[in-house]
Amino acid sequence: MQNRPLVEALKRSRHYGLYEATLERLIPFLESATPSELFRINAAELADGLQIAKDDVRDFFLYGTADGIFRLSWEFHCPHCNAVPDFKHNFGEVKGAGFCPLCDVNFRNVLDSNVEVTFTVHPAVVALPPSIEEEYRSAMIEAVKQNSYSMPDRFLSGMDCLHSAVFRELFGEEVLSAEESLGIERASLLFTDIKGSTKMYSDLGDTVSYNVVRNHFKILFRDIEAEKGVVVKTIGDAVMASFRSPADAIAAALRIYRDFRSERLDPAGHLEIRVGVHTGPVIVVNLNDRIDYFGNSVNIAARIQGQVQSHSVGFSKEIFEDGAVRHELRRFLDQQSAEGEPVDIMHRKTQLKGIEGQVDLYYFKDRA
Ligand SMILES: [Zn+2]
Repeated sequence: MQNRPLVEALKRSRHYGLYEATLERLIPFLESATPSELFRINAAELADGLQIAKDDVRDFFLYGTADGIFRLSWEFHCPHCNAVPDFKHNFGEVKGAGFCPLCDVNFRNVLDSNVEVTFTVHPAVVALPPSIEEEYRSAMIEAVKQNSYSMPDRFLSGMDCLHSAVFRELFGEEVLSAEESLGIERASLLFTDIKGSTKMYSDLGDTVSYNVVRNHFKILFRDIEAEKGVVVKTIGDAVMASFRSPADAIAAALRIYRDFRSERLDPAGHLEIRVGVHTGPVIVVNLNDRIDYFGNSVNIAARIQGQVQSHSVGFSKEIFEDGAVRHELRRFLDQQSAEGEPVDIMHRKTQLKGIEGQVDLYYFKDRA
């Protein structure tokens, strides 16, 4: 009961309705947590221990941070000794390069490997003993000296945070400084584009066509969000989205594929969708005050989309060889067969513009 004020503050807060269900399950922990348990909370471990979905716990803490009840920290682990030589509260202050005084080395901050996001109760809500930070630091340095400091097995990464719609909504104004870039070791990228919009505009007129295109975006955004992805940007009628795993990206592509089959988007059937999926390292930058991705992996994903026939999904070998993707694909093929619309996965080697060498391209084809 020692943390009553914390629970009371959460219940009074303006986002309460949005995290009420998660809070109910966290109350036993929050009420009885010791000061050190409210310091640098590892949302992933907490979620695991209480068997709550990690993303729900993440979003609960993000709401609580926006409401001034928790403080969020971007913590940068040194890849050599795992210590945290630096942290920031605001994404806008995050730097691409780090320095570890214990190892005397420079390192890069990579959102899905050495960037951890933690939450600490705000001092205005529950005052933690002032010594807690000091004790944490000295214990860390002591462990590093004995070569025994390690990253937690499970943690909320910077990648997890950027893939939260709640984060984007509440903290979207915190943009990376224009000079900085962060790494992502493995981003799973999905590109879509539609064919036939030019003819549709001339056949159906601007107003009807505009509604068709707008409706198509609505379906895409819904399918991307349903698989925990985020839309990075739209480029004309094209969409670029990012996912935390190849399986999530493929699951979204399958939703899109099926939705555009079943929902008669435009009465005259002008629009045909093409989807490309690839996974690999990217860099994250700020372009015109928005998060954008750059790198060869982005180019490959876009080029794969360009190689795909109308109303199909194309993907790279890196996607195809992922175990969880195989599982998703197997389920999809079975479902298509059961519905009397069997699909085959085809393979060919192809040359992608601006990419050296031949690339393995996999794509769906209706069985004739
Ligand atoms: Zn170090």
